[in-house]
Amino acid sequence: MAKIERTDLLRKIRDEVVALSVPLAQERIQNKMHPVIGEGSHWARIMFVGEAPGRSEAATGRPFVGAAGKILDELLGSAKIPREHVYITNIVKDRPPMNRDPFPDEISIYGPFLDQQINIIQPEIIATLGRYAMSYILNKFNHSDKLDPISKLHGTVLESTAQYGPIHIVPLYHPAVAVYNRSTKDTLIKDFQVLCGFATEPLK
Ligand code: URA
Repeated sequence: MAKIERTDLLRKIRDEVVALSVPLAQERIQNKMHPVIGEGSHWARIMFVGEAPGRSEAATGRPFVGAAGKILDELLGSAKIPREHVYITNIVKDRPPMNRDPFPDEISIYGPFLDQQINIIQPEIIATLGRYAMSYILNKFNHSDKLDPISKLHGTVLESTAQYGPIHIVPLYHPAVAVYNRSTKDTLIKDFQVLCGFATEPLK
């Protein structure tokens, strides 16, 4: 798939999300906020999947730019992975009010956009941030039998097969948990080292 093709296909996803008329999209329009589609290399080997945009993300249209984003940047730094080498996105592309957890029907509405992003970017590694992303990705890649609590699965590597080839899934705690919790941050720093065992340079 040529570079322009990936960019065009991702732009199409943006256009489709922008045109949604579901409640979270209506709130976005009312509040003059932005959808958060994702950002990073379209040839990334690693894709990070979070839950949903927060206030700073919806204000800028960029994923993980608020307090949790600062932690994510530190974690990437600790693993010596440049942020621009990876692709960062969320399951839900519009901000749930008051940063509440996404509802199952919201995950059903926005999940197919994430599915398309995965098939376009074809990451070799998907690192999930938090339990919502973990359970979405494990269900999608036929690991629903392994849906243990995140306290058990974090920092492990699960193997699966995507439409385009083999994929490694690495469940991680959500960086937001580490904002006020030093021991979760230490755990995240340790878990991020798992990513160093893989080639992380983008393919182009
Ligand atoms: N939390 C998320 O799950 N995603 C973001 O983009 C920001 C905070």
